[in-house]
Amino acid sequence: MSKIIDGKEISLSIKEELKKQIDKLPSKPVLVVIQVGNNEASNVYIKNKKIAASNIGMEFKHIHFDERITENELKEQINKLNNDNNINGIIVQLPLPNHLNSKNIINYIDPNKDIDGLTDINLGKLMSGSECMTSCTPTGVMQLIKEYNIDLGGKHVVIVGRSNLVGKPLIHMLLDEDATVTVTHSKTKDLISFTKQADILIVAVGKKHLITNNMIKEGAVIIDVGINRIDGKIYGDVDFENVLNKASYITPVPKGVGPMTVAMLLKNTLKSYYMMNKINKK
Ligand code: NAD
Repeated sequence: MSKIIDGKEISLSIKEELKKQIDKLPSKPVLVVIQVGNNEASNVYIKNKKIAASNIGMEFKHIHFDERITENELKEQINKLNNDNNINGIIVQLPLPNHLNSKNIINYIDPNKDIDGLTDINLGKLMSGSECMTSCTPTGVMQLIKEYNIDLGGKHVVIVGRSNLVGKPLIHMLLDEDATVTVTHSKTKDLISFTKQADILIVAVGKKHLITNNMIKEGAVIIDVGINRIDGKIYGDVDFENVLNKASYITPVPKGVGPMTVAMLLKNTLKSYYMMNKINKK
């Protein structure tokens, strides 16, 4: 097996399996993305989700609001979707315009339809080890680790970045797999002293090539979540070429974690469909 973790390939086989399951259903699962305003990066992400959903036979609805929409108006719209039995998954595309409180808005989504796993209820359930919708990117990271048979038991995993979207959910997912977890962030002093100890290093910061060869241990597994768009090119948080020889496994950017995020989003939508239709399937 190559040391380059092929997220694109794995995501394709997951999507193929989802398509097979959807083909057997009496109706199509429905995924809704709510967009407010016209953020350029959001337009790209939404387009990618739309293509991925329609490729596996899932219905995709893109609801677009003017950026002047108020918090109450937006909540009212989310409420309608919460109560619509034909809708299985709801995403509010972030970032929202500044006058809207993202946390309040996200928490308005029915936790069973919160396929991004970002409501306080789902984050709390994840922490206490209860069954829940889990955030797509960390779930995708865990899936990659599993697909490559990388054992987490007793391993020292160092996470760089502590966001609700990536770093924090990962803490609990990794602890559940018996890893020893260290979390570092922007206020961590002497970052290198931590990254050098990592058997597995997971980086989710948003700074091009923050992690270089001298910061990792020989044979470490490197998972790069970062996406940095600079002059039309995409870079990871890890200097891939620079650390490639030293790592035992490494995710590229693009084609590493990114495609897994979308695959997990589709998987969660199908999971919600099964729950709503009381079909007992994992
Ligand atoms: P965020 O801005 O919410 O969090 C960034 C984290 O990095 C913070 O916890 C901060 O403390 C930490 N940080 C900042 N500078 C640091 C430094 N110098 N040293 C150590 N830690 C530092 O970002 P996020 O939403 O968690 O996203 C992180 C990156 O992952 C971004 O590049 C984003 O585009 C990418 N991302 C990718 C996917 C995917 O599908 N591959 C999904 C989500 C996010």
